[in-house]
Amino acid sequence: MYDELPVRILANAERFPARTAYVFEDRSISYGQLAEYSRSLGYYLSKDRSPVVIYGHKSPEFIICILACLISGRCYIPCDTSIPVSRVKKLANPSGADMLIFTEEGDCPGILSCELSRKELRECFSHEGISPVTSGDENAYIIFTSGSTGDPKGIPVRRESLMNFCGYADSFLSGAVHTGHALFSFDLSVADIFPTLLSGGTLIETDGIPLSDTDSFVCTPTFLRLCLLSDRFTEINLPSLKTVLCCGEVLPADTAEKLFERFGDIRLINAYGPAECCCFVSAYEVKKGDNAPLPVGNGKNACNIGIRNGEIFISGASVSRGYISPCGNDSFRDGGYYTGDMGEIRDGMLYFLGRKGGFVKRSGYRIELSETESEIRQINGVSDCICIAVPDGMGQARSIKAFVILSEDISPVQIKQQLALRLPAYMLPNAIKTVPYFPLTPNGKIDYKALDDK
Ligand code: AMP
Repeated sequence: MYDELPVRILANAERFPARTAYVFEDRSISYGQLAEYSRSLGYYLSKDRSPVVIYGHKSPEFIICILACLISGRCYIPCDTSIPVSRVKKLANPSGADMLIFTEEGDCPGILSCELSRKELRECFSHEGISPVTSGDENAYIIFTSGSTGDPKGIPVRRESLMNFCGYADSFLSGAVHTGHALFSFDLSVADIFPTLLSGGTLIETDGIPLSDTDSFVCTPTFLRLCLLSDRFTEINLPSLKTVLCCGEVLPADTAEKLFERFGDIRLINAYGPAECCCFVSAYEVKKGDNAPLPVGNGKNACNIGIRNGEIFISGASVSRGYISPCGNDSFRDGGYYTGDMGEIRDGMLYFLGRKGGFVKRSGYRIELSETESEIRQINGVSDCICIAVPDGMGQARSIKAFVILSEDISPVQIKQQLALRLPAYMLPNAIKTVPYFPLTPNGKIDYKALDDK
């Protein structure tokens, strides 16, 4: 049913309007306020159908805008402020979005024809509200990831897929208080927002470790390792923490062991899935003493998962229908999505065996090195660039090195400064080195080993 998701969240608001729906830092909103403001904004948004870019960082207004888009039949494009404005413009164009809501204090970025500042947004909250519309854009949201063509890649996710995901995620994430860490522009945030609001829970967003009485917490394994370095991440400080769900990259068995040592009675879920299939599609509850590699699935999936020529292939309701142009859609074929992940199913368990090629992962974020290279090549003074990911031994990139050939005098620091205006921080190289030429192998390909030794 098209309007099922907003209808169910608004029904929660009817039942317990005073309950806190959302908290970020010192600001919070109740279910009643969330429903009232998003229905009012929904009235304003319902006059058009194109996707809406929401630009900001985790404020309550951001959540109101998400729900308002779903109420008014529009698809939202979440953009965290860590994404430079020039990149937001690049991703808005192919999606057809011509409206941007700026949820932070201050002036709008001035990149789309219709922009609402936070002040103007708040004025919309006094309109008379609407009920969720029953038809509109089939997509709930579009998430952008790094793209191999040198441009960000737009993944539209249908409402049907989102509902399918919520039905699956419900058994892992339906506590009364949930803490989320992922930026809203990262698809892992979907696991924070929707299962919590559908179950009538309180969603607390944080940029650091969870601090208060939370029941569940979703993060990448990299972030879990950071939490475990803190002496505040303990059972005494988080007495009600019952579930930690990790997703987005390999969960090392020793990280799991450390969590079990720190929290005697905790449920640790290793969830797997690409943004193309709505957040995650399979999950495994890690047991104390499990050895590496940990499985990523136990046979109960949100979708059909199979292995084709060693590659994980996903089909079913959660799968997107393909990227927004100008990206190639070769991975979407045979009625499903070829993930580019190598895997096997052994004794009913799904195992991730590494990437076939393509993007690398860094702190859980997906990076196509060709996109970073392409942005560096566009800087005046750079004639060519190659990036190399330095593996961390746990299946992702510890750092990224960029090798550049210059046509004019420009320093690595200047290149980095210019690049920071074009790319989010996680895509920036840690080191930029100038080289006179790229070494080649005898068959004329780039000799990456020799390049790395330079
Ligand atoms: P993203 O679309 O950014 O969430 O990245 C999806 C990719 O992250 C997958 O295709 C995998 O390569 C990787 N990934 C996600 N979850 C896991 C996991 N539990 N273990 C290993 N790799 C994972």
